[in-house]
Amino acid sequence: MPLDILALAAHRDDVEQTCAGTLLKMAERGYRTGILDLTKGEMGTRGTSEDRAREAAEAARILKVSWREALDIPDGRVENTWDNRLKVARVLREQRPRVLILPYWEGRHPDHYTASILGYEAAFLSGLSKLPIADAPHRPFKIIYASLYRDVRPTFVVDITDQFETRFASLMAYKSQFSDQEAGSTIFPAQKEIRARVESMARFYGMMGGVTYAEPFVQKEVALVDDVLGLPVKSI
Ligand SMILES: [Zn+2]
Repeated sequence: MPLDILALAAHRDDVEQTCAGTLLKMAERGYRTGILDLTKGEMGTRGTSEDRAREAAEAARILKVSWREALDIPDGRVENTWDNRLKVARVLREQRPRVLILPYWEGRHPDHYTASILGYEAAFLSGLSKLPIADAPHRPFKIIYASLYRDVRPTFVVDITDQFETRFASLMAYKSQFSDQEAGSTIFPAQKEIRARVESMARFYGMMGGVTYAEPFVQKEVALVDDVLGLPVKSI
């Protein structure tokens, strides 16, 4: 069975931080959702890649995700190479998502913005019939960009008011990363601070949409409207 929505990200826990509420909401509506992490987290200051694999599986369970896998691209060295594009294209052909969520294409962390370009180019390649990999060609119908890591104005936000607490629980499943501990205490905020930050961001985007909590996205295409009387979000 094909996935309806696949979220691709550089690191385990990126999806939980940027678009997990949306994935959960779609799963609750009966859609099949999936997460592709490009790396396994072996360079992280805290925890091993085995810890993170266990935690990622637990987060996927909390988010009611149907499919999750991590590729073996080296952590901290996500590069837009032919080999890596083929690895992602293989997944796209196997899982055949209609909607692909990519990270926003600019950012502080090179792995994040490279994952965005890599994901886009792999989605293009995946549609070419002569590509030397198995399965029938497939391109996602829609690509949207999860923009929470970047201070840009979203083109739309998804109301995750009912999903917020579960989404936060999925992030806290990464105990090796987010529980209070000595390792990395100068670079990682304390758990209480994480809650405050995650909540402020969700409230900020929620306010833009006239709801309590939301997640921001950018799409490159214009929005097509059928009935202007049904347009949401109050203007004045
Ligand atoms: Zn990341």
